[in-house]
Amino acid sequence: MTSVQVGIPAAVLKPKKVRRRLDMTLWEKLYVAEIVRGLVVTSKHFFINMIGFIFPPAGKKRKIFTVYYPEEKLTLPPAYRGRPVLVADAQGKEKCVACGLCEKMCPAHAISIVAAEKAPGERYPERYTLDLGRCVYCGYCEEVCPKEAIVMSDEYQGLAQRERSRLVFQKEQLLRPESKVKARLSYVRRIYSKWNY
Ligand code: SF4
Ligand code: SF4
Repeated sequence: MTSVQVGIPAAVLKPKKVRRRLDMTLWEKLYVAEIVRGLVVTSKHFFINMIGFIFPPAGKKRKIFTVYYPEEKLTLPPAYRGRPVLVADAQGKEKCVACGLCEKMCPAHAISIVAAEKAPGERYPERYTLDLGRCVYCGYCEEVCPKEAIVMSDEYQGLAQRERSRLVFQKEQLLRPESKVKARLSYVRRIYSKWNY
């Protein structure tokens, strides 16, 4: 099935000011008005989306917040944290040197590595297993990696499975060419250097 890439509507990306007031007025404590207000907002978006679905805006500026998945797919911003993947070098080999930092850092114990040596002092992961059933998409593995060998990709498909065993991925299934994760890599370089790591 062919799919169309759709950008995220500007209205969604635009940050909104959040009112952080902890004390509530009597009217707010009654909740009725707030429940009605919530229903009005939800219904408004429901009807806007429904009308947009029945009469799709052909060539016009998109107003609805939903996409017609899977015919349409969102172009995700580089800050999005999808499935972690391993980065391959120009020869298609993993950049990972099996240092084990990501395995150690992972709070969900989702990574397991069996290290081996190609030559004395030249390590590589003989096996690199990532259990996406455990992964919490925190991005610590990416943050800690000294070789930019693991990054959070924009992949989100195939992450819902009936059997947990189908969420266990091996090195060969995780490898992606560097060109495919270029946007995320430059985002990571920018954001981590900002934090002075
Ligand atoms: S994203 Fe977080 S939970 Fe997932 S593998 Fe990396 S460190 Fe572990
Ligand atoms: S931190 Fe990077 S280089 Fe080290 S084992 Fe993990 S992916 Fe490989």
